Amino acid sequence: MNILVTGGAGYIGSHVVKELLDTKHQVITYDNLQKGHKEAVLGGKFVEGDLADKELLTTTFKDYNIDAVIHLAADSLVGESMEEPAKYYQNNMVNGLNLLDVMVENNVKNIVFSSTAATYGDVDHIPITEDLPKEPTSVYGRSKLFFEQIMQDYDQAYNLKYISLRYFNASGADESGQIGEDHNPETHLIPIVLQKALGQRDKLAIFGTDYPTRDGTCVRDYIHVTDLAQAHILGIEALADGKESSIYNLGNGDGYSVKEVIETASEVVGKEIEAIAGERRAGDPATLIASSEKIKKELGWKPQYGDLKTIIATAWQWHKNHPQGF
Ligand code: UDP
Repeated sequence: MNILVTGGAGYIGSHVVKELLDTKHQVITYDNLQKGHKEAVLGGKFVEGDLADKELLTTTFKDYNIDAVIHLAADSLVGESMEEPAKYYQNNMVNGLNLLDVMVENNVKNIVFSSTAATYGDVDHIPITEDLPKEPTSVYGRSKLFFEQIMQDYDQAYNLKYISLRYFNASGADESGQIGEDHNPETHLIPIVLQKALGQRDKLAIFGTDYPTRDGTCVRDYIHVTDLAQAHILGIEALADGKESSIYNLGNGDGYSVKEVIETASEVVGKEIEAIAGERRAGDPATLIASSEKIKKELGWKPQYGDLKTIIATAWQWHKNHPQGF
């Protein structure tokens, strides 16, 4: 298949592209390079473009004879989404609609969509299964949930088939050390902890130490980005084989607290990483742990890098060797 990967120059997208390069499929990355890095795209064709540009999208579908889409291009910062909702609804929904419309116009029926655990909001049932109520606490989460609902309507009306992957905490880096996480600003825990270890940050704050968890700090389900990437390939191939539209969680099923992440990172880097207790960050649920049983059962997904130490070690390899990112 000729597979269009939107957002293929981003952190997760570049790992999806790399995994696709080892398959029989052709990869065409479509990215506006606002947040992504051209150097992160390790092969295939590249189109620099925005989803707002319907004309360029249409040309790209025709030029490369696109058969299927993996759609990751989006804005993804929870805090920013609360301050700039228009940006999130425009980029994640309206521009995403352009993509779906161009798919329908070109008779392309299959899409794997990058969704998020933020679609659930605060849930008191752990582990989180796909059928639990969805009450996102952020505009970001809502923009992703609405897009899932739009795809459902396009399925009903135009027979467009989708697999939506609700990521938990994507982390780690490709084993080769060639690509990894490079956000500006960086807001995620593991890269921040490793930047602190490298002396690139003055302080590392733990956002809240009074949560109802085993050590008072938030518990998250960290999943290696290569395991995430593999799920996209399973998804797009399952759709090509006639699978019905489905939604899957993607996590390890294990939760680690912020303190445990910092301790494990200290072991990996071989020195203590100093952290101070800080205020809670608005909108953070205490515990988010996925049940990924559904994707394991239905698509045969098997995480290869489940262990937190391995995840952090791959991230460390990337950060240590690319202290300034790409
Ligand atoms: N966190 C923290 N200090 C930081 C960054 C993050 O204590 O400098 C915490 C954050 O409050 C959350 C966890 O680490 O409980 C994971 O945060 P991250 O932003 O990596 O992912 P999220 O769970 O928000 O998607």
